[in-house]
Amino acid sequence: MTTPKKELISIVLPVFNEEALIMNTIRMVNAFIKKRAEAYEIIFVDDGSTDHTAEKIRKAMTFHQEMRLIRFSRNFGHQLAITAGVRYANGDAVVVMDADLQDPPEVIGQMIDVWHHGADVVYGQRAQREGESWFKRLTAKAFYRILHQLTSIEIPIDTGDFRLMDRKVVSVLNRMNEQSPFVRGMVSWVGFKQVSVTYTRRPRQAGESKYPLSKMIRLALDGITSFSALPLKFANWAGGGLLFIAAGLTLSGTWGTVSNTQWLLVVDLLIGSLLLFSIGILGQYLSRIFEQSRARPRYVVEDTVGFPAIPKQRFV
Ligand code: UDP
Ligand code: MG
Repeated sequence: MTTPKKELISIVLPVFNEEALIMNTIRMVNAFIKKRAEAYEIIFVDDGSTDHTAEKIRKAMTFHQEMRLIRFSRNFGHQLAITAGVRYANGDAVVVMDADLQDPPEVIGQMIDVWHHGADVVYGQRAQREGESWFKRLTAKAFYRILHQLTSIEIPIDTGDFRLMDRKVVSVLNRMNEQSPFVRGMVSWVGFKQVSVTYTRRPRQAGESKYPLSKMIRLALDGITSFSALPLKFANWAGGGLLFIAAGLTLSGTWGTVSNTQWLLVVDLLIGSLLLFSIGILGQYLSRIFEQSRARPRYVVEDTVGFPAIPKQRFV
């Protein structure tokens, strides 16, 4: 008689210079998942840390058989670290979470329950964010709403990458070869049954955020350019609007009577900035096309530890 295959849960955690909290995270995640899963693996993706994060993970691996480590050759960014982790995962369900415990491990239990009830994606929606600056909260809130307006697919608001995905969703995701992936959008794009669980986002456990403003802007631009073509039409609308105003002014005769240079200057500046802004938008899309057309490997794996045999093509 064959014993039925145990259900395997993979947990993927991207880490970048998290030596201050990594041991605590390993302890907490292990403790929670042990209670909830028949079988599990915890995959850390070290995104080019320059501190002792990788050594600490390796050390902990001697006590935890279920831990795996993927080390990038340099910092490739949070979204690519998630992409790699998900690709290496073998689970029937794959959970992605931040390593700073802002995404509480106990919510994973809830996600597994919802998955057992038939959901294919269970995403964590932030009801509240604790311990983050007003600037971060405000910009995040604004971003999710702008993105929601711009895209035609349903990307849920106030939702980061903390989620559980069924194997069938992961298989599709693994076939999407975007150079600058915006993972949460790509998961929404895949479809199937997507259900939310709300949770309170906790303050970071230790250390500083690894997402400075520049990385946040990059992520926001990736999100918008990969999921909406509306900004490309901006120049059309703005140009049309200006033409309309100019025609109106000319016809009404106002144009002829107001002949002062200030007017000219204002109009000049307006048109100039509109043109530059439109070219800038084109540039954003063009740079994505350029990136995609070079088709370089998206990340480089220096080594992996703790995995069973891994097919070679997984390395990039
Ligand atoms: N992270 C990463 N690569 C980066 C930046 C961040 O792997 O280039 C990881 C980081 O270690 C953490 C997660 O991504 O586990 C989320 O980052 P962080 O907590 O700094 O972002 P925030 O919560 O401040 O938005
Ligand atoms: Mg964080």
